Amino acid sequence: MAKILVVTEKPFAADAVASIKKVILDAGFEFALLEKYTDKGDFLKAVADADAVIIRSDIVDGEVMDAGKKLKIVVRAGAGVDNVDLGAATARNIVVMNTPGQNSNAVAELALGMMIYQVRAFFSGKSGSELKGKKLGILGYGYIGKRLAEIAKGLGMLVYAYDPFVSKETVEKDGVTYMETQQEIYRTCSTVSLHFPSNDKTKGSVTYELLASMPKPAVVVNTARKELIDEAAMLKMFAERSDFVYLSDVEPGCKEEIASKFPGKYFFTPKKMGAQTAEANNNAGIAAASQIVDFLKTGNKTYQVNK
Ligand code: NAD
Repeated sequence: MAKILVVTEKPFAADAVASIKKVILDAGFEFALLEKYTDKGDFLKAVADADAVIIRSDIVDGEVMDAGKKLKIVVRAGAGVDNVDLGAATARNIVVMNTPGQNSNAVAELALGMMIYQVRAFFSGKSGSELKGKKLGILGYGYIGKRLAEIAKGLGMLVYAYDPFVSKETVEKDGVTYMETQQEIYRTCSTVSLHFPSNDKTKGSVTYELLASMPKPAVVVNTARKELIDEAAMLKMFAERSDFVYLSDVEPGCKEEIASKFPGKYFFTPKKMGAQTAEANNNAGIAAASQIVDFLKTGNKTYQVNK
């Protein structure tokens, strides 16, 4: 009987674990769980006889894959897969999948929630402003970007999007203005929200030139990855533009410097919490378990990311 192991240094909610377990047992597979481990050695031991692994932000590198002698599939319950060494997996014929879209509403609501918090003067009691009628630029029109557009339009924001891999028709049929370049987004929108992946091409791609071109008041929202922003450029922007505000779910390396020099100009969640809702937890966990069951039973590789 194939064994499906759930490995989560930061565990799923108990309800989500129960749902995952049910999907696995109902399909006739064995369920195993490793939570809150502090030593990689525990992961290496647990994976030794597993056919499949479900992870969250846990690191799966070549060493883990070599320890998993029977390992056929790793599923990241979530969108980003930068914690899995995809090349190492491909070299070992291990399928890696993510569970796209399952946490997109949670992240989109957080991005929008931070925008409201900021325009209402961080709920300080001071007079604020409104999002209605303001221009929002969305970089990356995937699951989260698209959901954010939908919510923001509901508030009456004017929504613009740039995504080099999504067609103009797809964007415009949602009532969102398509932009040909990211430069146009920054030049047009005083609020810009990042929803594209971190990779060799995108790391540091939010440059000083782009930030400096933003109309006032310039607000950047980052629920994606901290590496997307050139932090030196951001510090320069803070120093030069008193209107600049940075709201983030992925706190920057230079957080202490921002906090000490630019109070009132930033908000960082205390830890990455975009996908931390009961619904997203449940959805992503169940999707991961269902995808593994389907793969083990039928070979379905629809959500494979290391092709
Ligand atoms: P997705 O894959 O559905 O969408 C990403 C989109 O970015 C794709 O449409 C892709 O074409 C586009 N893209 C790629 N390169 C681009 C570029 N240079 N400029 C603009 N667009 C580009 O992923 P998603 O589910 O929407 O998630 C987006 C990102 O959000 C993830 O990569 C992840 O880093 C982050 N995320 C964060 C949390 C959190 O807890 N804060 C949770 C989930 C995802």
